[in-house]
Amino acid sequence: MNIILLAPPAAGKGTQSSKIVSFYHLKHISTGDLLRNCLKKNDDLATSLREVMNAGKLVSDEIILKLIENELVDSDYEGVVLDGFPRNLTQAKKYEELLNKLNQTLDLVLYLDTEKEVLEKRIVGRRTCSSCGKIYNVMIEEEKPKVEELCDNCNISLTHREDDNSETFTKRFETYMKETEPLIQFYENKGILKRIDASLSTEEVFNLIRKEMDLLK
Ligand code: AMP
Repeated sequence: MNIILLAPPAAGKGTQSSKIVSFYHLKHISTGDLLRNCLKKNDDLATSLREVMNAGKLVSDEIILKLIENELVDSDYEGVVLDGFPRNLTQAKKYEELLNKLNQTLDLVLYLDTEKEVLEKRIVGRRTCSSCGKIYNVMIEEEKPKVEELCDNCNISLTHREDDNSETFTKRFETYMKETEPLIQFYENKGILKRIDASLSTEEVFNLIRKEMDLLK
């Protein structure tokens, strides 16, 4: 089972991917998380990646496709949830080629549909645990940690992503509209895209996703 979560920044891709992978026992591949891991090395690659990411632009297709290929080829999995990939038509077409090579198919593209204003509010309140990766939102009641600014699982301080600020958000949104939004039509033409109203609560969104996923069984 191969699934893509397609969404503008801060629509809840990370939160919903985590819920999907634990419920359906699939592998989660987030290109954003893989890139943030590369940033920790603080080498030349990290410096150039940080510059691109903080400018709200897309990292080169070459780097992204290498990351994806390593993840898909090197692991033992029953299905994958792709979070943040593909982000443009080149990546989408390369992914198709890769799946053909692996004798696999793409089953479903879930498009998390939300208004820009809702996304902007989410960005400002978003916090992440640098240890377990759990995502919180201090502006949304049901997504707050139990103790202010501490991870429920690890009891360590939550961090605010470097690119989660209004200025970078505006640029990330522009990049999304120009590069990623055309993928909606691309996958709609293939008949595998389902729209999910992502302005609802986390649980309501997950229930809508489950309905679509269960139809695949
Ligand atoms: P995300 O965590 O998915 O919001 O990604 C954070 C940032 O990583 C994006 O704003 C891009 O700069 C970069 N990024 C993540 N995934 C991709 C991708 N598939 N292609 C290019 N850049 C990406």
